[in-house]
Amino acid sequence: MKALSKLKSEPGIWMTEAPKPEVGHNDLLIKIRKTAICGTDVHIYKWDDWAQKTIPVPMVVGHEYVGEVVDMGQEVRGFKVGDRVSGEGHITCGYCRNCRAGRVHLCRNTIGVGVNREGSFAEYLVIPAFNAFKIPDNIPDELAAIFDPFGNAVHTALSFDLVGEDVLITGAGPIGIMAAAVAKHVGARHVVITDVNEYRLELARKMGATRAVNIANENLKDVMKELGMTEGFDIGLEMSGVPAAFSSMLNSMNHGGKIAMLGIPPSDMAIDWNQVIFKGLVIKGIYGREMFETWYKMASLIQSGLDLSPIITHHFHVDDFQQGFDTMISGQSGKVILNWD
Ligand code: NAD
Ligand code: ZN
Repeated sequence: MKALSKLKSEPGIWMTEAPKPEVGHNDLLIKIRKTAICGTDVHIYKWDDWAQKTIPVPMVVGHEYVGEVVDMGQEVRGFKVGDRVSGEGHITCGYCRNCRAGRVHLCRNTIGVGVNREGSFAEYLVIPAFNAFKIPDNIPDELAAIFDPFGNAVHTALSFDLVGEDVLITGAGPIGIMAAAVAKHVGARHVVITDVNEYRLELARKMGATRAVNIANENLKDVMKELGMTEGFDIGLEMSGVPAAFSSMLNSMNHGGKIAMLGIPPSDMAIDWNQVIFKGLVIKGIYGREMFETWYKMASLIQSGLDLSPIITHHFHVDDFQQGFDTMISGQSGKVILNWD
């Protein structure tokens, strides 16, 4: 089958012929229709330190997709050939304490599709049926293809009660922008998002952020004053992984504020503990999506009218994958879809 693989230990990604994956007793075989490029795929493409330490070569990469079930193992229940699915990319062990307690997203032995094992940038993908999520009929393929990053946004945004609250999001990457849309949709008062990338800030405005602030030339304190916010933000969603952004968030929180952290900092990140202690802040780390509560919420949010479509800014046929990666790397995009049909 056709597949996009990390074939060499150097920057790049290559179209190749790979063996069609074999279906185990508990697995689904999925024929891929659409995939999306994730920031993680860009790290793998660029072959940075993290990728060099993490990614086996050669390996088919990719983990954001939608496809159709074409075969399944004999133990599988609850799916049939023809079902349209996306899937949770974190494959969990099933035997650690958290797995056995039903807190599967906290599994300590998680394996990543397209990171630690063969991924979805291929004509066919095999995953455990447990990881698959059936897509309701009224959700289009291209939105189903981005359920993985949308799930990061939903898991983070819904970590704390947002209704009537003032929310600060640092980082208007695709995930930050989707989180802003979710926060507005569920009833936050002001949703302020920061970035240094004007293309993405414009997209955040289009998707409902109260204010999208370019912190290269605007001051967060001035924005708060303009919005009549005399005390500070109630909720912070850190979605940049940039230390300066986290520091400005700590400075802008109200007492008793709650912060959910999704962005991955490059290395050790300093933290002003006096802000945390004297303000009584709560800080929660977020990894992936809750299985499968986040997935049900995603489908329901779209069905209740959340319009995610503007976040998808580019479509390419998979044969033009290089253009897709170039677009993603340029920063002048939201989500980039690769079509396999
Ligand atoms: P992204 O890299 O596209 O977005 C990050 C954004 O932060 C960029 O638009 C960048 O311009 C912006 N930024 C840079 N400096 C900034 C500053 N000083 N203030 C505010 N914004 C600034 O990433 P994404 O795909 O949207 O993902 C968001 C973050 O979440 C990344 O750090 C990613 O690695 C991380 N992530 C974590 C998980 C998890 O499970 N914890 C899963 C997926 C992604
Ligand atoms: Zn486990």
